[in-house]
Amino acid sequence: KIFSGGFSKTRDNLAVIDELLLYWNLSDTDRVLDELEEALLVSDFGPKITLKIVESLRDDIYAGKLKSGTEIKDALKNSVLDLLTKRGAKTELKLGFRKPAVIMIVGVNGGGKTTSLGKLAYRLKSEGASILMAAGDTFRAAASDQLEIWAERTGCEIVSAEKEKAKASSVLSQAVKKGKEQGVDIVLCDTSGRLHTNYSLMEELVACKKAVAKVVQGAPNEILLVLDGTTGLNMLPQAREFNEVVGITGFILTKLDGSARGGCVVSVVDELGIPVKFVGVGEGVEDLQPFDAQAFVNAIFP
Ligand code: GDP
Repeated sequence: KIFSGGFSKTRDNLAVIDELLLYWNLSDTDRVLDELEEALLVSDFGPKITLKIVESLRDDIYAGKLKSGTEIKDALKNSVLDLLTKRGAKTELKLGFRKPAVIMIVGVNGGGKTTSLGKLAYRLKSEGASILMAAGDTFRAAASDQLEIWAERTGCEIVSAEKEKAKASSVLSQAVKKGKEQGVDIVLCDTSGRLHTNYSLMEELVACKKAVAKVVQGAPNEILLVLDGTTGLNMLPQAREFNEVVGITGFILTKLDGSARGGCVVSVVDELGIPVKFVGVGEGVEDLQPFDAQAFVNAIFP
């Protein structure tokens, strides 16, 4: 249900698996696994994961552990589920006990940072938390206007830069101070997202992190990297770089309602060992859901 309308491309790519496995017999194994490998690769699982999955299926088939096409398909789905849950467990937010908890939302422009922040505010607020938004994307003037709209929509207060080109770190620091004074539960910090190849962005994010840690010990509690689900395997180098510089605690994968390619989700979780905490499945306030690995696996396989 969560992914209704999403992953149609991935499902089409993987549809061939059903056909292959329907007519599978032992003597046909190598040909079937070659085609299966191809189907996983075009679905953006990436070469490493694909090889891992296919070789483990091959071993189990020749060891006589998998005796029918149905058993092979179940084993395939289970190995994807394993990869997602072993490396990427713990999808709930870790907010600590000091107030306010601070969540920084980071990612490149256009990925869905501001929208995800708004949707997350709505979700946390409906769970009973008081929220303050911090407009830390001081580079793009429109970003704080956009966040302002989300603040109104969700009934949250917002702290924005008082002057143009203010430092993001000082806006966030000011917001967290205000949140502390007011006894707010969670401060949600938007950040700038010029291209990740621009080193100064990374420096700015590190400065933001330090600035909020000065106000509340242990903050930021979460640094969530927003990844655009439609970018496929291109999200991998992005995730690596953000993680190396700022240390990511979880992913928000957006635009999974569209033509996202599902395999990359498995690749990024497996390589970085960082959990997907939320998925974006539309542009409305309710379109951010906690990541459910089983629902995801059911959605990508036909
Ligand atoms: P930012 O530059 O990273 O802050 O990205 P925005 O939040 O401005 O989002 C960029 C565009 O993607 C906007 O048009 C959003 O409405 C859209 N968007 C964000 N998340 C989703 C999602 O989960 N599904 C869909 N379909 N669109 C999304």
